[in-house]
Amino acid sequence: MQVVRARIAAAARSAGREPGDIALLAVSKAFAAGEVRAAYAAGQREFGENYVQEAMQKIAALSALPLIWHFIGPIQSNKTRAIAEHFDWVHSVERDKIALRLAEARPAGRDPLDICLQVNLSGEKSKSGAAPEALRSLAELVRASPRLRLRGLMAIPEPSDDIVLQRRHFRALRLLLEQLNAAGFGLDTLSMGMSQDLEAAVMEGATIVRIGTAIFGERKQA
Ligand SMILES: *Cc1c(COP(=O)(O)O)cnc(C)c1O
Repeated sequence: MQVVRARIAAAARSAGREPGDIALLAVSKAFAAGEVRAAYAAGQREFGENYVQEAMQKIAALSALPLIWHFIGPIQSNKTRAIAEHFDWVHSVERDKIALRLAEARPAGRDPLDICLQVNLSGEKSKSGAAPEALRSLAELVRASPRLRLRGLMAIPEPSDDIVLQRRHFRALRLLLEQLNAAGFGLDTLSMGMSQDLEAAVMEGATIVRIGTAIFGERKQA
């Protein structure tokens, strides 16, 4: 955890940013509740999960702790209720139907669900995320729902060892955010950067980095 915080701080300083402006989301998928508890004891509050079933067990086991849970994985429509009821954020909204179902299922007594739209930067059919051309109308739909709060954009670019390429992808996501903001959306969140490429993401303006391996170690193969 401290190593990752130091990496974020170093990247922020080299980009002339405040380290405090970049939130660390600890991606705890494939790790047990006990490991989340240990990260909490080390000061971590925000955790990311990809699989609803697995996450629900951890959320229940740790309900006594003041944790903030982010859903970051692909969303099947039969899982929207569980996500809307048990998470604080969703980073992976990529189509209208899912946004509508999350809005419908978000309990009225809770704060609106914080939403990032996932963008497919590379244009591959196999990849998750909305096409850049589809973002504007999806953003309007989310903004129109009082049960959702549109916060920003998320992407998982092609992995690359080349920091120039990494930065090019992250810059593309930032430009999409700037376009939406020029159209009045007032978005404040860029969810980008993982263990391999967090420096590039911070240099290009990430406000949330999603880090698993560099905190918890290698995940075992499923
Ligand atoms: C697993 C995952 C991460 C964390 O990846 P690491 O390389 O382990 O840091 C971040 N974002 C998403 C969407 C993930 O699925």
